[in-house]
Amino acid sequence: MLNVTRTYLPDLKRYQSYVDRIYKSGWVTNNGPLVGELESKLAEYLGVPELVLVANGTAALEIAYRTLEIDKFAVTTPFTFVATTSSLVTNGINPIFNDIDPRSLNLDPKLLKQNVSPNTSAIVPVHVFGNACDVDSIELVAGEMGVKVIYDCAHAFGVRYKDESILKRGDISTMSFHATKLFHTIEGGALVINDPSLVERARYLINFGIENEESIPHLGTNAKMNEFEAAMGLCVLEEIESILDQRATAYSRYLSGLSDFVTLQAKNPDGSSNFSYFPIILESEAVLKRVEASLKANGINPRRYFYPSLDTLSYIEPRQICEISRGISSRILCLPLYPGISSQGQDKVIKIILKSLF
Ligand SMILES: *Cc1c(COP(=O)(O)O)cnc(C)c1O
Repeated sequence: MLNVTRTYLPDLKRYQSYVDRIYKSGWVTNNGPLVGELESKLAEYLGVPELVLVANGTAALEIAYRTLEIDKFAVTTPFTFVATTSSLVTNGINPIFNDIDPRSLNLDPKLLKQNVSPNTSAIVPVHVFGNACDVDSIELVAGEMGVKVIYDCAHAFGVRYKDESILKRGDISTMSFHATKLFHTIEGGALVINDPSLVERARYLINFGIENEESIPHLGTNAKMNEFEAAMGLCVLEEIESILDQRATAYSRYLSGLSDFVTLQAKNPDGSSNFSYFPIILESEAVLKRVEASLKANGINPRRYFYPSLDTLSYIEPRQICEISRGISSRILCLPLYPGISSQGQDKVIKIILKSLF
């Protein structure tokens, strides 16, 4: 069996040593010492001044909207995981879908001007599959129109843009540390808030809006990360260089076997790669279904990331149509890619794909 991803489990003895510490202190959650330690180690590793850990990537998006008081409308991409959109709707914000560029698969900044209106309070782009958005163009429009930018960086762990962490761009960047992601804490997420005066507010929002024993100035929620999750993150972070190396090796194996035969995402040359996904774009949905069926018949489970295009969601009114996103969604497939994937397994994937193409 080869699945699209496999959760990275770090050295058990290291994890056990953190669990021993938790048992000794009895401190299991509520902004414990391991959460603090992971916040500072991650901030240092990623090259940002400060980072706020939360329960998951969806909560990170929601806390970002509430911290910046986003309301009414937000312009976002239809080609992403559903949480980018559903988190807006949950918070009473109407998503306006901006179609994607068919090469980068990111929100097409040339369409932004026609989608941002006086009722828009934010742009919510995603660095899809870790490919950096055209952040300069996005921020130019955002600046002109006076709207906030929240980047969903769920796929962009460690990505650098023009030699700086991509997390430094926009007003807030959010991350997901779910077990399926490149770096994980089982469940978890983070915010990088580029206005330091807003960090305290975000921290209150994560903890029910409570400021201290006597004051609850904000309408908050519970989005805290616990100590067992932070311990997992500390262990995975210790092994991150090896994780990235193994991914890069596996990535290049697919690249040399497939790049002449399928279409690949066009990478932004100003952004670095983190080898988090290997999506292939096929000629048509019929070809995709043929490839998918042959892989599955051989115990290989790719995933249709991202399908369906989110402009087709039944709960979004009024209906919007993003033709390019729908087209790409119907014929894109992510191949199994994770540290420890065997080269024989990858060669089998390549062979089956090539055989079902022709
Ligand atoms: C995984 C993911 C999320 C949600 O993160 P969770 O930690 O699972 O809540 C949001 N946006 C994108 C683009 C994702 O891939």
